[in-house]
Amino acid sequence: MGTMTTMGTTTDTLTRHAVALEKVTKRYGSMTALREATWAFPRGSFTAIMGRSGSGKSTLLHCASGLGRPTSGSVRLGEIELGTMPEARLTEVRRERIGFVFQSYNLVPSLTVAQNITLPLTLAGRRPERSWLREVSSRVGMSGRLHHMPAELSGGQQQRVAVARALITRPEVVFADEPTAALDPHASSQVMALLREAVDTTGQTVVLVTHDPAVAAWADSVLFLDRGDIEDELTEPSTAKVLARWELL
Ligand code: ADP
Ligand code: MG
Repeated sequence: MGTMTTMGTTTDTLTRHAVALEKVTKRYGSMTALREATWAFPRGSFTAIMGRSGSGKSTLLHCASGLGRPTSGSVRLGEIELGTMPEARLTEVRRERIGFVFQSYNLVPSLTVAQNITLPLTLAGRRPERSWLREVSSRVGMSGRLHHMPAELSGGQQQRVAVARALITRPEVVFADEPTAALDPHASSQVMALLREAVDTTGQTVVLVTHDPAVAAWADSVLFLDRGDIEDELTEPSTAKVLARWELL
């Protein structure tokens, strides 16, 4: 954890943490999905978030990534406050600085693999560099498939395309909500290796929700949520350690 609550907002804190939540609460009507969540995600770290269904994992991810608005509290991406940012600017920030991977891949079925990967750039009115597209698609093992359509690919391949799409803008932070839930263990490991590589080789920050202890073991640290509260952090997770902690929830 940073020193943000004790020392105020120092430049050091702002640069050391990719994302910082301070007392973030999210209510849906009378239901509190997330309660005063305070957590700072260090730059270049890989954090997994676990908890039972309905414990607030997706809500935390939505608030942290600017996809959803907190009811109260502060969410900072590096030096900027997302919680109160006007919607148009927030869309821009999400597009330029954040990558997303979802359980259901969310590829556009009528676009080729290459067009899907470069979609965030196209939407931002930017021209994709051919060399960077080649590098990203080769990293995810899809160089030979650039002209294929999503329907021609397996689930694991589609998810690797989705990872490439998340990385094409060189985002500071990648948020992933149960990205391996629909994949077999082999495809799941391939996706996790790609996210791990993004952290280890390019210093990107990854925050990932999962139900799978073997997936969580790829992270540097695992947060456990229970009924909207961050209950615990497990560092240097192994599958066995995660499973043992999970059984206490
Ligand atoms: P998780 O991802 O851990 O399964 P969620 O963050 O999706 O949990 O949900 C936390 C709680 O908030 C649940 O009780 C869920 O029903 C509720 N919730 C989530 N999204 C909405 C919404 N858009 N409207 C109303 N309630 C919601
Ligand atoms: Mg969820």
